[in-house]
Amino acid sequence: MNKLMKCSLPVGIAGIVINLIFFITNLFYELVVPFLEDSSIDGPLFHFLDALIFYTPCIFIVLFIALIVFGHIYKKKAYVKSEGKKTKVMIEKNAEVQKILDKKAEFLKYDYFSNCPNCGSPRNENEQNCSFCGASLIIRKIDEE
Ligand SMILES: [Zn+2]
Repeated sequence: MNKLMKCSLPVGIAGIVINLIFFITNLFYELVVPFLEDSSIDGPLFHFLDALIFYTPCIFIVLFIALIVFGHIYKKKAYVKSEGKKTKVMIEKNAEVQKILDKKAEFLKYDYFSNCPNCGSPRNENEQNCSFCGASLIIRKIDEE
C-alpha cells in the first residue's frame, strides 16, 4: 500500500494511457466480447455485460484518477507529518541549548577563587563548589549594572 501510494502518479498515468488506448481503439472490447458472444447469455443481461465490457476501460480510467488523487493526499499528509517531527526535534534541541546558556549565565554572575579556600585544589571550569571537599568557590556576586 505504501509503495503503491509513493509511485501513484506514474502508475496512475500509465494506467490511464493504457486504458485510453484500449477504449479508443476498442481493443479491450474486441478481445473480450467474443467470449460473451460464444456464451449462452442473451436478453437484457447480454446487453448489460456488453455495455460493461465496452465501458470497462473508462471504469479503470476513473479508478486510476482516484489513485492519483489519493496518492497525492497521502504524500501530502506524510510530508506534513515528517515536517512536524523535524520541528519537534528542533524545539527540543533549542531547549537543551537554552538550558546550557542559562547555566553559563548563572556561572558568570559570580567571581570565583582559582583554588579552593578550604583544601587548595584547583577549581575546574564551570564549578561553583570544590570537587574534592565541596566547599563554595564563590568570592562574591558581581554587581549587575
Ligand atoms: Zn576543596
